Amino acid sequence: MPDFQLEEEYQDLSDTVREFADTVIAPVSAKHDEEHTFPYEIQKQMAEMGLFGLPFPEQYGGMDGDYFALALALEQIARVDQSVAITLEAGVSLGAMPVYRFGTEEQKQEWLPQLASGQALGAFGLTEPEAGSDAGGTKTTARLENGEWVINGAKEFITNSGTDITRLVTVTAVTGQEERPDGTVKKEISTILVPTDTPGFEARPAYNKVGWNASDTHPLSLSDVRVPEANLLGTRGRGYANFLSILDEGRIAIAALATGAAQGCVEYATQYAKERQAFGHNIGSYQAIQFKIARMAARAHTARLAYYDAAARMLAGKPFKTEAAIAKMVAGEAAMDNARDATQVFGGYGFMNEFPVARHYRDSKILEVGEGTTEVQLMLIARSLGL
Ligand SMILES: Cc1cc2nc3c(=O)[nH]c(=O)nc-3n(C[C@H](O)[C@H](O)[C@H](O)COP(=O)(O)OP(=O)(O)OC[C@H]3O[C@@H](n4cnc5c(N)ncnc54)[C@H](O)[C@@H]3O)c2cc1C
Repeated sequence: MPDFQLEEEYQDLSDTVREFADTVIAPVSAKHDEEHTFPYEIQKQMAEMGLFGLPFPEQYGGMDGDYFALALALEQIARVDQSVAITLEAGVSLGAMPVYRFGTEEQKQEWLPQLASGQALGAFGLTEPEAGSDAGGTKTTARLENGEWVINGAKEFITNSGTDITRLVTVTAVTGQEERPDGTVKKEISTILVPTDTPGFEARPAYNKVGWNASDTHPLSLSDVRVPEANLLGTRGRGYANFLSILDEGRIAIAALATGAAQGCVEYATQYAKERQAFGHNIGSYQAIQFKIARMAARAHTARLAYYDAAARMLAGKPFKTEAAIAKMVAGEAAMDNARDATQVFGGYGFMNEFPVARHYRDSKILEVGEGTTEVQLMLIARSLGL
């Protein structure tokens, strides 16, 4: 029989992060959201707790945990604050993980200790103005000149790319053309490490987003950015494939984040339903409200099982691409549906920005878009069925 109970170490981590989220993050969430400020003081405390190093070995400054530990932490944080959770998710699974998975020993020694300790943040620059779901449409170029890559192009919507502590953006760029066996030509896409203090690299002004207001998101411009040839990450021409595998893992992390958002909505709505009076009774005594919250709880539970399963497969070294896509889609939709239902339970107060459910309502939409839209997940699932 499969056992979905958490082992003690995982449970302890989850409990610790839950308490931190409730007592340290939640009290300042509304303020950072309203003022669109990056929560440096929270990021620093998460770094001190070792959260940015969870899945990395100690030799690189990590906590010797695994990807599931990261997912559990993300779930607990996202219950109360999706902006803080995406800062951790992007910092670890998109900023540091590509270096860990594909870097040379030298690159790992240079970057991982600062990223895993949370002293610095890394970002992942795949999306471009004309290449999102169709990420192979990359137009950014990198040409080799006198032992240096010269990079030109633009990136769109890059998380953690412009904070005061951002030190690294890993970008995809077209480094040439490959001839296929059938004679057709395709772009050769590679990934290159770009320290953010390199001349020609610019994080342009932050977006004015619908949600995730306390997370850092910028368009980037790269104009004759010169970095050493040794900054190539992984094999030349494998950049696109490598990034897709990073996204497969990232979907488990995003599914965990979305599960946390869905669960947060259950908890806020349940508490409110027990207190709010209408027609002489708690609104939670009415079956219409009970059923709404019961359905929300079922969605959060289903989403959790889906990401646990994808993570278990990944850790066991089994194929997990389809299960990660399913988890990401199910959890993203659970978050959005629960946010809509939770605001309904809150009535007019649910429409007031300072209430956490209103924040979840604005924040959750991106969970159906970022790290692959729902349609992209459906494409992956359909492909696994041979369609
Ligand atoms: C807040 C935020 C943070 C982000 N962080 C990062 C980051 O750190 N790094 C990064 O690289 N990117 C990041 N992104 C980008 C994100 O991954 C993309 O926005 C997403 O992949 C969708 O790409 P797009 O916006 O270009 O939409 P498009 O690809 O243009 O899609 C538009 C619509 O068309 C649909 N569609 C596209 N193709 C098909 C098809 N073949 N069949 C059916 N439907 C289709 C899509 O599902 C979508 O509904 C972020 C985005 C946001 C908003």
